[in-house]
Amino acid sequence: MTIENRKEAVGFIGIGKMGLPMASRIAAQGYPLHVYDISEAALKAICSRTTARAQKTLKDLGRNCEVVILMLPDSEVVKRVLFGEKEGLAAHLSRGSVVIDMSSSNPSVTREIGPQLKEAGVDFIDAPVSGGVKRAIDGSLAIMAGGDSAVIARVKPLLSTMGQTLIETGMLGSGHAMKALNNYVSAAGLLAACEALKVGSDFGIAPDKIIAVLNASTGKNNSTENKLMQFVVSKRFNSGFSLGLMRKDISIAADLAKSTGSRTLLGEVLLKSWADAEVKLGGAADHTEIFRILDR
Ligand code: NAD
Repeated sequence: MTIENRKEAVGFIGIGKMGLPMASRIAAQGYPLHVYDISEAALKAICSRTTARAQKTLKDLGRNCEVVILMLPDSEVVKRVLFGEKEGLAAHLSRGSVVIDMSSSNPSVTREIGPQLKEAGVDFIDAPVSGGVKRAIDGSLAIMAGGDSAVIARVKPLLSTMGQTLIETGMLGSGHAMKALNNYVSAAGLLAACEALKVGSDFGIAPDKIIAVLNASTGKNNSTENKLMQFVVSKRFNSGFSLGLMRKDISIAADLAKSTGSRTLLGEVLLKSWADAEVKLGGAADHTEIFRILDR
């Protein structure tokens, strides 16, 4: 966002697989950028390639920034960063500043955080993303934003440094709800695609033929196009999105369905499949490694 043509000071917390390319794009657009992460290596990675300034504490970051972006693992970490006993960020933000949670967080927690920040005169919106590391690097992420339209409009220029599509989804938390639902669909599509690959291969069809048919036919989805050959058949398993984070997103979608009383047929089996895979392979495994559980 800009005030009188001045680019506002931006804070970015969580310089991980996604945060690094996203924050790098913000710095490249000339925003004064302050970064914070509990990992020294993460801070080194961004400061060595951009003009970003690493801050030692959340207090320093809060005092220096007018907009703060969070790109953290989950809602628990988001709450700790904002309201942590020792030095939560919220206590150090000035009135009129904005916090944007771009993590894939739990919408019910997001809806609790909003009013708490509002009391301190701080605006809060959720703006999670889809597209993975590849689209974070080229700035073509899909962003789904929930919360006050006027606040979203205020930070639109900043968001547009990271994403090509910005869809306003409605009330606070609706972006996080949509993110979980998107990944529910994505996880189901990947597992179905892996199963087709496994069954077809066991039947004796070459993997490249299986994928070619799916992509020329009605079974095509994002995983058949962008994951099966690239990460599964190649055995590279390095898409940059962990299995644990995907399981978290499916859990959020399942909780959401419970809270709305909506009926789902796949929900339970999908969550159990990914939770079992997390136990067997570990949360740090790449999410495309879900294919491996079909071999056991
Ligand atoms: P990551 O684990 O690579 O990065 C998380 C970063 O947060 C790490 O650098 C970690 O050190 C930092 N962190 C953890 N606790 C912290 C704390 N208390 N204070 C400051 N920093 C802390 O994860 P990621 O893959 O970059 O994902 C980040 C978020 O984006 C998650 O919510 C994830 O679900 C979502 N997401 C990921 C992808 C993807 O393809 N990787 C795509 C879309 C959305």
